Amino acid sequence: MKHYIDLHLHLDGSLPLNSILRLAELGEVALPADTMEELVPHLVADPDCKDLAEFLNKFDLPIALLQTEACLELAVYELLRTISAQGVIYAEIRYAPGAHCRRGLTQTQVMEAALRGLHRGIAEFPIKSQLIACCMRGADPEVNRETARVTQKFLGKGVCCMDLAGAESLFPTEDYADLFAYARTLDVPFIIHAGEAAGPASVWTALKFGAKRIGHGIYSVKDKTLLEHLREHHIPLEVCVTSNVQIKEIACVKDHPVAQLIEAGVPVTLNTDNMTISGTSVAGEFELVQRTFGLSDAQMERILLNGVEAAFLTEKEKEKLSEQILN
Ligand SMILES: [Zn+2]
Repeated sequence: MKHYIDLHLHLDGSLPLNSILRLAELGEVALPADTMEELVPHLVADPDCKDLAEFLNKFDLPIALLQTEACLELAVYELLRTISAQGVIYAEIRYAPGAHCRRGLTQTQVMEAALRGLHRGIAEFPIKSQLIACCMRGADPEVNRETARVTQKFLGKGVCCMDLAGAESLFPTEDYADLFAYARTLDVPFIIHAGEAAGPASVWTALKFGAKRIGHGIYSVKDKTLLEHLREHHIPLEVCVTSNVQIKEIACVKDHPVAQLIEAGVPVTLNTDNMTISGTSVAGEFELVQRTFGLSDAQMERILLNGVEAAFLTEKEKEKLSEQILN
């Protein structure tokens, strides 16, 4: 089996379908349907999604299912089981701790529960993994600041960095200067979703704040100077092709700028974003990109190695991952 890396994978959008009934039972959550067949449309978006709203409402049920410690632990554990069986040997799994406090958990309790699932999973399955804590655009600023503090508390103990996710077109990156200034005072490394639903200026702002990687960043393609900057400074983009097409940022796969970004020498990585909602896997994303753009095996291997290079790991850990990928 081929080995893969996934650096951009949201827990709530990637709940394994075979864990839904157990999560509902464990969390005592009433499901909107009784059979898996009827539940699937609540969890998986149509490949030709009508609009962003249709896509976003697929997060409602997963978020409702992830409001207790037992459910959070199980979800992370089951996701690791699923992706390791697909050949993923390293994954950075992200989620927003602040979105899981509806039933009274604190963000620290949420993170501790997710970490229990992580540590159980990596002990049992042939995979290495860390968590990323997402702040949310549009969330209460104090909730986001608490996410920064929780990230700091668990940094190096299974959590590798902080992120900013959510509606980029409604809540511009520029509005989060204070949050990232705060993260810098805490010495919390961060990445930012930028250039997904807003133009290159959003990516420039994320870089000015100090983002180590850019989530998506596909609109960088519109700015030659930015492409040059990303290439020169080895700033990786976490590209998720199926997701971009599904939310209608890109009309169809062959219009996706991934090949242009690779051509420009930007360190591109390929990832899933939301495996369940988008009905994809990282192997599926690699296959899709290679087939659509006619990339060589050597180019695909380069993308995998970009993923190793971009990971929040030590040089020694990266060396080990590279060896696994190249063998
Ligand atoms: Zn994302």
